[in-house]
Amino acid sequence: MVMLGRQGAGKGTQCVRLSRHYVVPHISTGDMLRAAVREGTDLGRKAGELMAAGNLVPDDIMIGIVEDRLGRDDTTQRGYILDGFPRTVGQADALAQITVDRPLDVVVDLDVAKDVVLERLASRRVCSDCQANYSLDKPPKYGWVCDNCGGEVVQRADDTPEAIQKRLDLYERETAPLIAWYADRDRLVAGDGLGSADEVTKRLITAIDLRRRREASPSS
Ligand code: ADP
Repeated sequence: MVMLGRQGAGKGTQCVRLSRHYVVPHISTGDMLRAAVREGTDLGRKAGELMAAGNLVPDDIMIGIVEDRLGRDDTTQRGYILDGFPRTVGQADALAQITVDRPLDVVVDLDVAKDVVLERLASRRVCSDCQANYSLDKPPKYGWVCDNCGGEVVQRADDTPEAIQKRLDLYERETAPLIAWYADRDRLVAGDGLGSADEVTKRLITAIDLRRRREASPSS
């Protein structure tokens, strides 16, 4: 499965929940890149500056990372939830080739309007160790220390007003066209991302299961 949606729509939160529900790995290209930046690898050095400014990492690099990850046993045996990829038509084309023997079941478009995500992004805070999400409205219990792992809870380097604007503009230009791209290929499931995290999860599971049942018995 692939999850599409604007920055701040709740893709990360929902993908973690869906990956537990369906017992499949959650593959977030943003998390993979941030881990590379923390570890100071070649990839991290190349990607870090681009990410902090809100730019995209070039397609060839991203396609290589995802192809490698989708070749590992856990995904070939169980399936997966891809979060943050594809983000351009070039990446979607490449993914179609990578998965030609095991095509995607569904592509979920988690829809939240731009004015709502702008507010969410401005108040978002994340654990620098385990990536758990918080916000100014829902902070950790004790100071800015993660409830799950004790890590430091900070603002992401790309959650500055300039980088947020750049990322949302890039989303409209490069990623939003994928909604029609997957609808044309009859893969798309739309999910309203407003409401509590629990409500959205329930809504998504219902829509995904309905879609998969239809796929399993097309006449019903
Ligand atoms: P967001 O969706 O909020 O931008 P992510 O954690 O998904 O957050 O991604 C953070 C950054 O990582 C992106 O702004 C971009 O620089 C880079 N990135 C992640 N996935 C991709 C991708 N598929 N193609 C290009 N760049 C990517």
